[in-house]
Amino acid sequence: MKIAVLSGKGGTGKTLVSVNLASVFERSVYIDCDVEEPNGHLFFKPEDRVTKEILVKIPVVDYDKCIGCRACVEFCKFNALAFINQKVKVFDSICHSCGGCSLICPEHAIKEKDKVIGVIESGQSNNVKVMTGRLNTGEETGIPIIKELLNLNKWDAVSTVIDCPPGSSCMVMESIKDADYCVLIAEPTLFGSHNLSMVYELVKLFNKPFGCVLNKCIEGENPSEDFCASNNIPIIGRIPFDKNLGAINSNGTIVTRVSAEYSDLFKVILNKIEKEVSR
Ligand code: SF4
Ligand code: SF4
Repeated sequence: MKIAVLSGKGGTGKTLVSVNLASVFERSVYIDCDVEEPNGHLFFKPEDRVTKEILVKIPVVDYDKCIGCRACVEFCKFNALAFINQKVKVFDSICHSCGGCSLICPEHAIKEKDKVIGVIESGQSNNVKVMTGRLNTGEETGIPIIKELLNLNKWDAVSTVIDCPPGSSCMVMESIKDADYCVLIAEPTLFGSHNLSMVYELVKLFNKPFGCVLNKCIEGENPSEDFCASNNIPIIGRIPFDKNLGAINSNGTIVTRVSAEYSDLFKVILNKIEKEVSR
């Protein structure tokens, strides 16, 4: 079973939920697809770490062969090529490595070179295998890293929790596309309900089963809860606004590993997900 955890913005408790869901499985894989700012590893502190570089292909122009026809520049929809001072210039950081320019060049003047855009780190933390994607600063997209993270885990039958990037970008779409269930995390504010609406539209588009975990719950109004009620979104868990939880979390401790109360809370959430997926 693959569970993807999403939120409309960072700081809503997405990693808190992902890390603790992964921890309450008997055995699981936690995949941090939040490649621009991965922080699940700070909680797991995985051991026996192995690092793998992730490469993409970037075009290189052979100026001896280039006749300056500009076909490649016109072809590139990402504006990663420009014709400056009678020469084709490649802007590596916005190239999406589609390979089209090298195919279209009539003079075969474009070859490709490898470029490192980030890494994947794998390690073990008790019952959880931890896989972390990390995109180098300044790179345009982490999709190649997310693809590789999910591909490396493809044949692993162990339950998986995917900590998605925040928002509803193409990196989030890539992260959830093979998920069996999506967990949407929401805070009890108007802004929180707006963020919830973004990820709600996304999971509907992908036709995935999903439920909502309300974080930082306090007595009184909860616009995110109202949003769930008016859109028939099942609420599968409520995490209280608890200073003690905040302190444990900010110390980089996995709360389900130190608190029977929170361990039970996350087991109940997991149980609901498992029932929904097996229906
Ligand atoms: S398509 Fe090939 S020949 Fe034409 S400008 Fe680009 S690199 Fe040069
Ligand atoms: S590989 Fe694709 S994205 Fe990159 S420069 Fe060539 S056409 Fe543009």
